[in-house]
Amino acid sequence: MKILSLGWGVQSFTLAAMSALGELEPIDAAIHSDTGYESQLTYEFAKRWTGWLEDHGVKVVTVHGTNGTLDELFYTTKSGNKFVRIPSFIKNQDGTSSIRPRQCTTNWKIVPMRRWEQKNRNKQPIEQWIGISLDEVERMRLSDVKYITHRWPLIEKRMTRLACINWLEKNGLEVPPKSACVFCPFHNIASWRRTKAVPEDWARAIELDEYIRFYDPPFEHYLANKLVPLAELDLSTPEENGQMSFFDCSGTCWL
Ligand code: SF4
Repeated sequence: MKILSLGWGVQSFTLAAMSALGELEPIDAAIHSDTGYESQLTYEFAKRWTGWLEDHGVKVVTVHGTNGTLDELFYTTKSGNKFVRIPSFIKNQDGTSSIRPRQCTTNWKIVPMRRWEQKNRNKQPIEQWIGISLDEVERMRLSDVKYITHRWPLIEKRMTRLACINWLEKNGLEVPPKSACVFCPFHNIASWRRTKAVPEDWARAIELDEYIRFYDPPFEHYLANKLVPLAELDLSTPEENGQMSFFDCSGTCWL
């Protein structure tokens, strides 16, 4: 079986469209793991292009990792400790910051996708296409399960993100917005600015930022690595040194 991880960002949509237009082999399904927290722009884009992909032979499957509520942000261990699933930044007692490990990618994306794959593969191995482009090779990871082999067709084609955009435009296709959860702490300043441009997304990110702040005393949790409330983050500055770059969450974050 050939399965594409479809995050509805530039790279994964390029792969879906390439399969649809015959530049890549047919696939059995393009699976979107919907976290429930994507940008409105991503949901609107998916709505516009699902029909086109399906008309061109690409079956689009959406699986859900959450019900999109704030409660899904936390999990409780057997010993009763409560943790936030996303990689939030915390203010240490000495004033320095650190990032918490995340469970969101596994819980919200990988598990629901694999559940679908296990149910539908009829014991066949899976070739899983991941939309990683040449400019982000460091994100490539081998599969951690035997029945799945990862494949990176954009790397094979030596295509960067810009090359994907050019290819989409050359083929008269729409270029998708960046895809990721609206509150992803991996956002850089430019990404937060884009989030702020969509009022529903911004309101949701701010709500969550406030929701996680004091759940774990004495630590304070923040979405912004500057350790300030998102509503007060200075978005006028260029991208700071040392801040992680925003990425297209190609269905699997940094799988
Ligand atoms: S986009 Fe960010 S918050 Fe969402 S699942 Fe991926 S790493 Fe987690």
